[in-house]
Amino acid sequence: MNKLQYEKCQEEITRCNRLYQGFSDASSFISAVCSAAYEYFKAHPVKSLPVYDQDEAEESIRAGRSLALNPPLNSKAVVRLLKSFGEAIAKANPKLKATVKEMNNYLDQFLHDSPEELGREDIFNLQDSMIKDTELEEDLATFLFSFLIYSFYRQYLQTISEVLRTDLWEGGDCPLCGAKPHYGLLRSEDGAKQLQCWTCGTQWLHTRIKCPFCDNTDMEKLGFFTVEDNEKVRVNYCQKCCQYYKIFDARKFHADGDVVLAIHNLASLTHDLLARREGFTPGSGLEWVNKDEIIEAQD
Ligand SMILES: [Zn+2]
Ligand SMILES: [Zn+2]
Repeated sequence: MNKLQYEKCQEEITRCNRLYQGFSDASSFISAVCSAAYEYFKAHPVKSLPVYDQDEAEESIRAGRSLALNPPLNSKAVVRLLKSFGEAIAKANPKLKATVKEMNNYLDQFLHDSPEELGREDIFNLQDSMIKDTELEEDLATFLFSFLIYSFYRQYLQTISEVLRTDLWEGGDCPLCGAKPHYGLLRSEDGAKQLQCWTCGTQWLHTRIKCPFCDNTDMEKLGFFTVEDNEKVRVNYCQKCCQYYKIFDARKFHADGDVVLAIHNLASLTHDLLARREGFTPGSGLEWVNKDEIIEAQD
């Protein structure tokens, strides 16, 4: 996360405080983690990857193949950033002190036996094993790890993302890194559906009546729900693959230019809970709900 990305995040937190009821409790927590990421990268800057061969990139996009760029992350850097997130969350919420201590011990041990570099799968495996072996809860783990990946990838891939011919892309997954989306928006100027990658921030237009996960276009099996008094957030679901993603209606909050949807996503996690309770799973694989919360409702 560089200075500009940091400032945008903080601005978005301010906007979301105004837009989403009940977000202000969580927002200072999120803001603390954003600040930790900013301070970390100020001390340990990372360089954007050099621009990919543009002709090759265009050919791949035209052929419907994501570039699927997944730069490996340095293990030490991953652990250092996670520890600085830990410090920030323990400060923002002292109840988490014991969990953070346990996380730090776990991470030290992990670093001891881990390879020098970690691929995206390795990072997910680390997340899973920490949920299993420490007090770290699933929703908090998803927040910390997705923010970690976003912070690195956003910087590594930004230069390529800016020149990528996303206008030629019709797929549901990210044309640049291949991740499956968790959210998108309806553009304020024309209501077009634009997906935004939670991993690298790349944005691309996607047919409105189409599931990004299974390409289903059967209107009968696609739908969305909103919650009363909050038309800004839609949970788009597909009854064919039983998965969901969230769409933010930017026409309802008159946002111009870039919107940091990662923050809107955090401000509307109650919608993820509702989607899970309706029996849909996140097509992105990002689990924002603890299992006991889903079961509670079914009792
Ligand atoms: Zn991406
Ligand atoms: Zn589907």
